[in-house]
Amino acid sequence: MSIPTRYHLVLDRIARAARRAGRRPEAVQLVVVTKGHPLEAVRQVVEAGARHLGENYLEEALPKIEALGDEPLIWHMIGHVQSRKARPVAEHFAWVHSVDRLKLARRLSAFAAESGRTLPVLLECNVSGEESKFGWPAWDERAWPALADELAPLLELPALDVRGLMTMAPFVDDPEEVRPVFRRLRSLRDFLARRFPRLPWEHLSMGMSGDFEVAIEEGATFVRVGTAIMGPRRG
Ligand SMILES: *Cc1c(COP(=O)(O)O)cnc(C)c1O
Repeated sequence: MSIPTRYHLVLDRIARAARRAGRRPEAVQLVVVTKGHPLEAVRQVVEAGARHLGENYLEEALPKIEALGDEPLIWHMIGHVQSRKARPVAEHFAWVHSVDRLKLARRLSAFAAESGRTLPVLLECNVSGEESKFGWPAWDERAWPALADELAPLLELPALDVRGLMTMAPFVDDPEEVRPVFRRLRSLRDFLARRFPRLPWEHLSMGMSGDFEVAIEEGATFVRVGTAIMGPRRG
């Protein structure tokens, strides 16, 4: 199957999952994850209509962002960001899904301000407790009040626009197994929305190739899909 065919199949599956959950398909934004794929493959999915693209690594993303500079693309940083790379990330990406510590948030805010913009970001949360994952530790609900206190200064940063939460679920064979993880991210979002009602908290970035339909049923507004559209990664 070609990239455009798989792209349209995934869009159909997104729309069906949304309707099943009583949601509008437009309420779910597909971010096509292009990491590990060459520029030519990225061009194919852009020609098929993709506008929101996700990358994990700055060095890999920059040449693609530059080469596709004439396209109306919205680039999402979804991978772990080292603090010393905060400047180019703040300059070249429209969204950052992976804000996982205050130091990074401060730097992103400072560099976004220098570029005269406000950067929309999501807070990456570890709601599964898996050790390998980045993200604010949030698997234990009893720790949420303390987490909220820790997040308070971040929410005040002048050039960051905190719009919601992101998580990566563990890899499992049966996506039903990760439904509780997605549900916990949504509960955490609801908790933070009660605690900080001034902010919109409208986004939940959750769901990848293996589990995006379950994530949509649990409220995902961004799904980050790579393999199911682009095929196996090379790089
Ligand atoms: C690679 C990656 C994805 C896409 O994963 P697939 O299983 O290929 O769909 C989504 N989110 C993050 C954070 C990733 O690193």
